[in-house]
Amino acid sequence: MSRFWTDKIASLDPYVPGEQPQDKQYIKLNTNESPYSPSEKSLQAMMDQVSERLRLYPDPNCQSLKNALATSYGLAPEQVFVGNGSDEVLALAFMGYFAAGKPLAFADITYSFYKVYAGLYGIKPKLIPLTDSFDIDVADYQDLDVSGVVITNPNAPTGKALPLADIERVLQANPDVVVLVDEAYVDFGAQSATQLVNQYPNLLVVQTLSKSRALAGIRVGYAFGHKDLIEGLERLKNSFNSYPIDRIALAGATAAVEDTEYLAEICEKTIATRETTVTALQSLGFEVIPSATNFVFVSHADKAAKDIYLALKYQGILVRYFGEKPRIGNHLRITIGTDEEMSALIAALKTL
Ligand SMILES: *Cc1c(COP(=O)(O)O)cnc(C)c1O
Repeated sequence: MSRFWTDKIASLDPYVPGEQPQDKQYIKLNTNESPYSPSEKSLQAMMDQVSERLRLYPDPNCQSLKNALATSYGLAPEQVFVGNGSDEVLALAFMGYFAAGKPLAFADITYSFYKVYAGLYGIKPKLIPLTDSFDIDVADYQDLDVSGVVITNPNAPTGKALPLADIERVLQANPDVVVLVDEAYVDFGAQSATQLVNQYPNLLVVQTLSKSRALAGIRVGYAFGHKDLIEGLERLKNSFNSYPIDRIALAGATAAVEDTEYLAEICEKTIATRETTVTALQSLGFEVIPSATNFVFVSHADKAAKDIYLALKYQGILVRYFGEKPRIGNHLRITIGTDEEMSALIAALKTL
C-alpha cells in the first residue's frame, strides 16, 4: 500500500498464477504447461532471430503469423488478431467489447482471470452456475440481458467440452453481443468454433500457443473473428502498445503454427498419456471427470484434496489445489505430463 495509489489501484484483485517455486526441481503438474519441447522448426526460427537485427522494431502487424494462422485455419488474415499471450487478447476484448454497462455472462467455475479483467474494467460479472455435474447447460444462456458472453471450451478447470451445436445455440441466442469462446485447450479433444466465424459476426474465438504448442514462454495468443471485430481489437492494441510481439516470438510463433505435424504428434501423445492416467487414478479410488484437455480434474472419496496436494508437494510433485474456491475446494487439477512424470505421480499417490 502506498499513499500514491489511486482508488483504482487499491480496488484491484489481481490474478494469482499457479506456483512457480524456485526452491527445488518439482515435477510440475500445476499450470498446464506442455511437458514436451516446442517444435524444432520453431526453436531454429527463434535462434535465427538472435542477431544484430534485434536493433530494429518487429512488424507491428505480425503479418507472417497472421498469414500462417489464416492458412492453417481457412480464414483471411484480416480475420486474425495476435496478442502477447491469449491473456492480453482477452484483456483487450473485455475492454473493447464487454465494458458496455451491462453485466458479462460467464460460468461460476471457469478461468479465474475473467473476474480479474471484469474488476479492472468495472464490468459486473453475471455468474452462470455449472450444473451439479460441472456441465455448462446452454439453456442457461438464453434471454440474458448482458454486454457479452464468455464460454471456455473445453472448460477449465473441469476439462469438460461442449459440442459445437451448443456453442451455436449460445451464438444464436445472443446475436447482439459478442460471444467469446476461449479455446485454450481445444487441440486436446474438443471441436473448435473457428469454422463458425464466417457465419456469426458476433463470434470471437481465442486460442493460445501456450498449451498445445508448448510455447508458454514466448507469450503468443490470437483471436479469430469477423474482420470488423478484429479491426476493433487492432484499434485498441494500437492505442496501447504497437509492438506486443517481439521479433523472436514472432518468428517462433509463425514456424510453430506452420508445423502442424508436430502439433498433432504432441497432442496425440498427451491424449494417450491422459487416458492411461485416468485409468490409473480411477483404480486408486479417484473420481475423474472426463477430460478433453491436457489436465484432469479429480476428487477422492476418502482423502481430502488439501492433504493429497500437500503430501505430493512434499514428495516434489506440484498439482493445482483450489482450496479457497467454493464448490471445487475438494478437487485437484492435475496437468498431464510425460508418461514418466505420470508414473511418478501414481507411485507417489500409492504411498498415501
Ligand atoms: C492458459 C489459459 C489462458 C492463457 O493463456 P496465455 O496464452 O498463456 O496467456 C487463457 N485461457 C485459459 C482458459 C487458459 O487456461
